Amino acid sequence: MTTRLGTASAGPGEVDTGRLEVGETRDGSTFGLPVAVVNGAKPGKTLYMQAASDGDELNGVGVLQRVVPQLDPAEIAGTILIVGIVNYHAFQVAEHRNPIDDTKMNRAYPGSENGTSSERIAAATFEAATRADLILDLHQGSTSRMIDEVRVRCGTRHRLHDECLELAKAFGCGYVLDQKGPDGQLARAAPDEGIPTVDPELGGCVGWDETSIRKGVEGVFNVLTYYDFLEGTVDPERQTRANGFEQYGASCGGLIDFEKDLGDEVARGETLYRITTPFGETKETVTADSDGILWRTRRLPQVATGEYVCSLGTDLDSY
Ligand SMILES: [Zn+2]
Repeated sequence: MTTRLGTASAGPGEVDTGRLEVGETRDGSTFGLPVAVVNGAKPGKTLYMQAASDGDELNGVGVLQRVVPQLDPAEIAGTILIVGIVNYHAFQVAEHRNPIDDTKMNRAYPGSENGTSSERIAAATFEAATRADLILDLHQGSTSRMIDEVRVRCGTRHRLHDECLELAKAFGCGYVLDQKGPDGQLARAAPDEGIPTVDPELGGCVGWDETSIRKGVEGVFNVLTYYDFLEGTVDPERQTRANGFEQYGASCGGLIDFEKDLGDEVARGETLYRITTPFGETKETVTADSDGILWRTRRLPQVATGEYVCSLGTDLDSY
């Protein structure tokens, strides 16, 4: 049977790319999100993947660029639906949020066909996503520095919590953040429709990060193998799970000197960072409030009072 997504149309054993039209730009020309359909020669599950839901998060695009040419539909059981760039307008100007309505795309799901710019894009991609059995929404820690991890956002009480955890483990970054996300996330809205969904968060960088892209490519192939799109077996590795997430903001202005590296384990009371003057004097020494892992840090050292400094993954276990 032929599978269509926007103008992409592929019969069994075929791949096609095209555009999923969502409206017009300010000059009145129609625009469409780049899409791909990989229709396996054999029947199986459907996987939906998307990237650049946040317009400055390019590692996911880097992953799809490498994954798609490696997919041979003759060897695939099932169907893969892909939206390569979700936040069209933000991507054009290399920003995080959609500049048309100043909205974060991942707060707009499930979207609305007659809504704002972001809601319409969310609705169009949600329609595609909810045709699938599994969803990967490729993100990263924006332009901050962050470890490679996978987020389970449905919340521990959700009926699909176990299945989302399983998908996160199959992807296999090594770290999972298991914490209910804010309303409007695809990884919140799609599990409500009965579809296991996770956000692989592939590092954090300006532009592309080779290491995180490689981890993402590996993760996608792990998922394709684990869920029988591809032949073979994967034995998912144990994941370190954070059930809590602690944010640190600057109590005064200055320059941040981290005493821990990303991914380091820290004990409660250990020094995380110092805030210093331009002449190297320490203004404040900040210690960890909990045991955890240094998960994410700001990129630039200079901070004003109240500005974001870093986050710890806390309440750790493994599964
Ligand atoms: Zn994101």
